[in-house]
Amino acid sequence: MYFCRMQAISQKLDLHETISVTIRREDLLHPEISGNKWRKLKYNIQHILQAGFEGVLTFGGAHSNHIAATAYAAKKYGFKAIGIIRGEELQQTTQWSPTLQSAQQWGMELKFLSRETFRVVKSDLTYWSDRYPNYFILPEGGTGELAIQGCTEIILPEDESFTHIVCAVGTGGTLSGLSQGAFAHQKILGFPALIGDFLREDIRNFAKKENWELIQGYTFGGYAKTSPDLIRFINQFNQMHQVPLEPIYTGKMMYGLVDLLANDYFPKTANILVIHTGGLQGIPAMNERLKQKNQITLQIHV
Ligand SMILES: *Cc1c(COP(=O)(O)O)cnc(C)c1O
Repeated sequence: MYFCRMQAISQKLDLHETISVTIRREDLLHPEISGNKWRKLKYNIQHILQAGFEGVLTFGGAHSNHIAATAYAAKKYGFKAIGIIRGEELQQTTQWSPTLQSAQQWGMELKFLSRETFRVVKSDLTYWSDRYPNYFILPEGGTGELAIQGCTEIILPEDESFTHIVCAVGTGGTLSGLSQGAFAHQKILGFPALIGDFLREDIRNFAKKENWELIQGYTFGGYAKTSPDLIRFINQFNQMHQVPLEPIYTGKMMYGLVDLLANDYFPKTANILVIHTGGLQGIPAMNERLKQKNQITLQIHV
C-alpha cells in the first residue's frame, strides 16, 4: 500500500540564547491530511482496508481537522466515509464551513445532530456499529490504540539528543503516542487546548509511562477561544520564524512554550523538540469569525 512521505522536516527556531529549540513540521507532511491527523489515521486506514470494511464513520465539529483528514483519506484509499457533525443548524448547505464543503467534495456523507444529541451518542460506539455494521467506527478526534501507534512514529531514531518534546493536546492521543515512542530520558510536555480535568485521566488510559506532563494555563479561555493577543503572537511568530501556526492548538502551545522559556522553566542544557501538529486548514474559517467580531485576523496564507 502506498502511503505519503512520512518524514517531516525539522527546523531550528531562534527562541532562546542557550536553549536549542527545533520544530518538526508535521504540518508539511501532506496538504490535506496534515500533521497528527495523518499519523492518527495511518493504521486505522490499514485496518479498514485489511478487515474489508465498506467505510468509516466518525465524528466532529464544523471545523474539525479530523473530519477533513478522514474525508480525504477515504477518497484516496477508496472506502466510504460518514461524518456525524455537531450542530443541527448546519443542515443548510449555505452555512457550511470550508472544512465541511471540502469533506463533502471528497465524498463524505454528512449527517447533522443537535449539540445535545451529539454529546450523548458520539461515545456510544455500539449505537453506531448496530446501525452501520459494515463501517469502522472511529471515535471523535480519531484517538484509539491504532492512532497512538501511528503517533509513536513522529519520534525518529535520530531524536535521542532531545531532552524535551512539546506538543498541543486535544484528546491526548498524540501525547500518548509521543510518550510511548520517546527515549527513556525524554520528557513530554503537553499544552491542552481545552479546559478540563478529564484529560489527565483519559491520557492515563492510553499512556502507560510516567514521562509526560500537562502544562495548564494557556487555553485562552477554552477550546477554540482566542484573544487579540494570541492572534498577534501568531502573526509575529510567522513573520519572525516563517512558521505558520493556528490559534486552536499550535498557536496556544507555542505561546505557552515561549512564555516558559522566558521564565526559565527549562534547564540551561535543554534541547527541545516541538511538534507542529498541523491544523492550518481551519484558518480561513477562523478569520471569518474574527472579522465578524471586528477583531484582528491571522496574516497566514494557506
Ligand atoms: C487534533 C489536533 C491536536 C490534538 O491532538 P490529540 O491527539 O487529540 O491530542 C493538536 N493539534 C492539531 C493541529 C490538531 O488538529
